[in-house]
Amino acid sequence: MAKWRFRYYGDPVLRQKSEPIEEITDEIKELARYMIYYADNHNGIGLSAVQLGVPIRLFVLRDYIVQPDGKWTVSPPKIYINPKIVWKSEETNIDTEGCMSVPNLNVGPIERPNELTIEATDLEGNRFIEQREGLNARVSFHENDHLNGVLQIDRLPPNVRKRIEPQLLAIKKKYGSTP
Ligand SMILES: [Zn+2]
Repeated sequence: MAKWRFRYYGDPVLRQKSEPIEEITDEIKELARYMIYYADNHNGIGLSAVQLGVPIRLFVLRDYIVQPDGKWTVSPPKIYINPKIVWKSEETNIDTEGCMSVPNLNVGPIERPNELTIEATDLEGNRFIEQREGLNARVSFHENDHLNGVLQIDRLPPNVRKRIEPQLLAIKKKYGSTP
């Protein structure tokens, strides 16, 4: 039995601003490993700690990779501790986004910059800097939003957000009562 419970839309923790991580403890390492396991088991490409009810600045993701034969695959998991987006492109693109905390709702249009530069610490405590683009930039923006209490539905045009309100209420009703 895992010590963490997955959190869905309607859970107030998802609206919290996550706290910086001061020290990479064994507990944080265990959580990071569980996050990767959980995301893999639920077809998630990325996951933030707050989605498991722990509002600390940590997310995990895998990169989408196009192989020479044109098929998609994913990279080994990557861990981002205290991430900081240090640059983003002026150019943007529009796409839909799903979120494991807002199940079965792939929604758009959501505008995101095409590229970003992100700085973060890995599980060993080493600071790294990375350039990301396209879908992989989008995943980083999405996960980084979670650390600030923002969900992808908040980035929808108001009319679309209004249109999906019944579905959001249904999610709240279905998952909100989980003990
Ligand atoms: Zn999400």
